[in-house]
Order: sequence, then C-alpha cells, then structure tokens
Amino acid sequence: MGDMSADQPLPSPDEIQKKLSEFMKQEFGDRVVFAAQPERAETTPTGEDGKREGIEFDFHLKPKDVKAHLDRFVIRQEDAKKALAIAVCDHYNHVKAAERGEELRDYVKQNVLLIGPTGVGKTYLIKTIADLVGVPFVKADATKFSETGYVGGDVEDLVRELVQRAEGDVNLAKYGIVYLDEIDKIATPANIIGRDVSGRGVQTNLLKLMEETEVPLRSPTDIQAQLQAAFEYQRRGKVKRETINTQHILFIVSGAFDQMLDIIRRRIRQAHIGFGGHLAESVGEAELHRRGQTEDFVKFGFEPEFIGRLPVRVVLDKLSVDDLYNILKQSEGSVVRQYESSFSAFGIDVIFSDEGLRAVAELAALENTGARGLLTVCERALREFKFELPSSTVRQFVVTRTLIENPGAELQRILHEPAYEHRELMRQLVHDFERKFAEKHHLHMRLEPDAVEEIVERAQHANKSVTDFCRELFKDYQFGLNLIKTNSGQTEFVIPKSALADPDKFLSDWVVSSYRKDGASSPT
Ligand code: ADP
Repeated sequence: MGDMSADQPLPSPDEIQKKLSEFMKQEFGDRVVFAAQPERAETTPTGEDGKREGIEFDFHLKPKDVKAHLDRFVIRQEDAKKALAIAVCDHYNHVKAAERGEELRDYVKQNVLLIGPTGVGKTYLIKTIADLVGVPFVKADATKFSETGYVGGDVEDLVRELVQRAEGDVNLAKYGIVYLDEIDKIATPANIIGRDVSGRGVQTNLLKLMEETEVPLRSPTDIQAQLQAAFEYQRRGKVKRETINTQHILFIVSGAFDQMLDIIRRRIRQAHIGFGGHLAESVGEAELHRRGQTEDFVKFGFEPEFIGRLPVRVVLDKLSVDDLYNILKQSEGSVVRQYESSFSAFGIDVIFSDEGLRAVAELAALENTGARGLLTVCERALREFKFELPSSTVRQFVVTRTLIENPGAELQRILHEPAYEHRELMRQLVHDFERKFAEKHHLHMRLEPDAVEEIVERAQHANKSVTDFCRELFKDYQFGLNLIKTNSGQTEFVIPKSALADPDKFLSDWVVSSYRKDGASSPT
C-alpha cells in the first residue's frame, strides 16, 4: 500500500472493507469469509462478570393459541400442529422458569424431529411459530456441513446467524429457533469398515449445540471478525470474549427419511412373522414413519445420543389435491394473495374462480413437490399475463380452468376479445353472489351452468350490474329457502335454468312441497 499523505481524505469504512476483502481473497482464496458484521458489542449488554443478564422472557401462549394461529396458515398436518404447539409452549415455559431461577434439573429440551416429504409445510410451520413467539429463526441444510470445516460452514455458524437475525441482540438470539433440513442425509449407516466419519462428526457437533455450549460470536474463520478482535486488542490490550449460550435455543431437524421405510417395514415383518406380517405392507408411508422407533433411527445411521436429543417426533402427511385446493382457498399465506397483490400493483384485478383453483391444485399434485407445485403451476400459467397485461387496457381478468390449462390461447382472447372476458367476469360475479349468500344465510344456492349463462345474458340485456340483477331475482329466497330448511333440513339448493322464468313461483312450489314431504325436496 502506498503512503497516505496527510492532506488526502481518509477512505470510508466501506472502502476499507472493500480493499481488505480484495486483499484477503487474493491471499487466501475462498477459504475465508469476509462478511459484513452487525454492530453487536454496543447492542448486547453483558454483565460485568461476562454472564448474560437475564431478561424476563415474555411468553404466555397456550397450546391451543399456537395451534389456532398455525391453522390460519397451514392446512392439514393436524398431528404436527398439535405436537409442535405443545413442544413450543413447553420449551418457552421452561425458558421462562429458568430465567426466574426455577429450572428443573434434568429437563429434556423439546427439540423436534420432523419427518415428511418436500413442500408439505415443515419450514412453513416453524417459520410461523418463530414469528408468533417473536424469536429469530435460521434454516439450513444439514448437507452443507462437514465435520472438518469448510464445505459451506460449521454448525456454530447457525447460532451466529441467529444473532445476525436478531440484529445483534444476543439476549433475543439465545431463545431463537435453529432449523436443519435434510438431516437424513447425514445419517451414517454402519458398514464393514465402520461408520462413515463425516456425517457422524456433524452429528457430534450438533449434539454439542443441542445440549449446551458457548458459541463464540466471532467466527474463527471469519477474517473480519478476527480483525475486529485484533483492533480491539490494540486499543484496549485485551479482547472481550463474547459468546452465546445455546441452552435455550430450540432445535428442529427434518428430513424425508424415505430410506428408513424399509428398515421399519423389515422390523415389523419380523415381529409379526406369520400372523400380522402383512401389516408392514398394508399401511401407508406416513403411517409407517409414525411407527418408527429409536432402534430404526439407529439402524438408519444416527447416533443414539443424537436421536435421544430429539424427543418430539412428528410425521407430516403428503398433500392431496383437495389439500392443495384448500391451501389456495383458505391459507392466509396462499399464493393467490401474492398474485392478487402483484397484479394489483399494476391496477389489475385478478379473480380466481373455484374451477381455476381446482385446475391449479390438480396440476400441482402431478409435480410431486407438495405445495411448492402450486407456485410452479401458477407461474407457468400466469407469467405471460404478468408480462403482457400491465401494458394493455385490460383491468381485470378471471383465472378459469381453461386459462390454467391453455394460458396462451386465453391470453390472446383476453387481449383481443374484451367482450369475451367481460362475460367471464360476469359469470364470476354470479358465483360471488352465491358465495356471499351462503356466507350470510348459511343456505347454499347452486346455479346450474346454463342458469348462470341466462343470468349473465339478461343482466347484460337489462344493462344492470350482475350483482344487483341477482339480488332482484332472488330477493325472497332467503326467506323461502329458510322455510324449506326448517321443514326438511335441506341447506343446499340446486337452481336450474327453468327456475329463472319465474323465480318466485319456483320458490313457492318448492316451499309447498317441503311441507308435504319430510325428506329433502326439490320442486319437479
Ligand atoms: P417443506 O415441507 O419442504 O419445508 P415448505 O414449508 O417450505 O416445505 O413449503 C413451501 C411452501 O408451500 C410454503 O411456503 C407454503 O407457502 C406452502 N405450503 C406447504 N405446505 C403447506 C400447508 N400444509 N399449508 C399451507 N401452505 C403450505
């Protein structure tokens, strides 16, 4: 480096960092990390004796509260939601007790093992819980760690990352949640030579974290952190050794554990030789996983101590087409909302019809990536719409089954045949009327397709809004259908096109016949 003359302005910290990072790369290649560090020394009060100051941890949820919150976002997975709700409450109540100095001796931390295929809500569950509790959350794949260091990082980095997520607040980070996916990939089945060491090493390192250890806030492989320490040493003649304790960090690990199915199947078969042996064959994969025992995990390649530190085991279900449809329709995190908001940013209303959503769910199921498939299918179908519509005059459109199955042709139609799209919107408004009627009165009108067409036609002709037109047509239906419901218990009412000629007469015939018969009625 050249001489810095006194009248030259000093470089900014950013410039220094850039220069240093280039220098380090040149000297050491990719073996060292030179990452921006959050300001932490100032924001994390540590007691004079180096111990962290206890803050009262604010947690007062009950398992049912947690479950109810999860229900808003995560569809299905009832077992998992319940088990996690309980585990999380136990964990944070214990943390609270420990903060008050009332810790139980020999308490077993409620670390969780999640078993399930990809895209069924594992990460989503944990992320939602972390948000609810208000603690930082870090996720990584177990495969990126190797025992001896640098493939992608060392397991202690996860804990340091929690501190970063907590913006340097160690007091909050120590209650964080660390989530490791693909844990089944570090299993090391015994073979002739013995166990493969690398996976076992990662298990041992993880075990240390899961029990209790002090993790230095400055990573030994992070050059900048080490430099900071060096500067501090120059300034003060000593380095404050900052660490974070892992005792109260909740660890969640997960994996698909496909390969373990055979092990469980074999054990069950052996236990039931002859009678009951078919059991192993007849139950589904999730059910088989639910029957997994510690010995199966050990055979699969986990250290018994490691499995022992994961007392809460939860199996997640595969998602069916119906589940996928319900995710779109009900989950507050549904991709439908994403599309609504991204189109709305261009002043475009997108309306998803029920049949359209069903088509998305059906195609997504074929992807075999769980709920991730929903986004894949929507992207595939709607990408061109996102590109073309903002620059067109189209201000609203309906995602129908036809659109999902044949997006190219539908896009052309929407762009070039406004009347066609207008009709589709009107149809959708008729269905909206049905839906709102059901929500308000708990009576389900099902208008047959040709009845919907007729309504659209007549509303157009009368130059009236579809919604107003429906309201007029069916103004007495709430009263009449309620009478029928009282008489027969019927709550679903199919309305054919013929009813529209004289809706009031149709209704009164219906009501009369419901007085005559006991069972469900329909006026024919
Ligand atoms: P994984 O099980 O592989 O961790 P994720 O939880 O990351 O899968 O799921 C990917 C996305 O799919 C989530 O962000 C969420 O939007 C959606 N998703 C997955 N499962 C569900 C579910 N059961 N209910 C609602 N949304 C889900």
